[in-house]
Amino acid sequence: MIDITNYDDDNIFAKILRQEIPSRKVFENKYVYAFEDINPQAPIHILIIPKKSFCSFQDFSKKADSKFICEFIKSIDLIAEKLELKEGYRLITNIGKHGGQEVPHFHFHLLSGRPIGKMVST
Ligand code: AMP
Repeated sequence: MIDITNYDDDNIFAKILRQEIPSRKVFENKYVYAFEDINPQAPIHILIIPKKSFCSFQDFSKKADSKFICEFIKSIDLIAEKLELKEGYRLITNIGKHGGQEVPHFHFHLLSGRPIGKMVST
């Protein structure tokens, strides 16, 4: 079962940040790293992760300082601008078991390139 209470330094996104495993970079600045999802669910499926160790959105909200939170959110908009997502996009962040989180490093999914459809599967 996923543990989102203690940060696992060996999770796959931590390894991507340390460049121990490859990724297809889309955007990077001081606060975030964004790369293509290995198993895309839409024509555009980007993962946006903070360059600091947070297990989940919950952990991020509680522990990140206000400047970091602000810059992280603004970076998402910069990524959307860079990708010219004029028809819109969907952001998703999964938290814990019921949220369907698989990787215990906080991330947003950015999905676009077609209408993304129903918000929740039945
Ligand atoms: P979540 O279920 O919200 O934790 O999402 C984890 C996402 O990470 C999934 O969409 C996976 O396809 C993606 N993923 C797992 N390993 C990699 C990897 N090495 N490179 C890119 N995406 C990955």
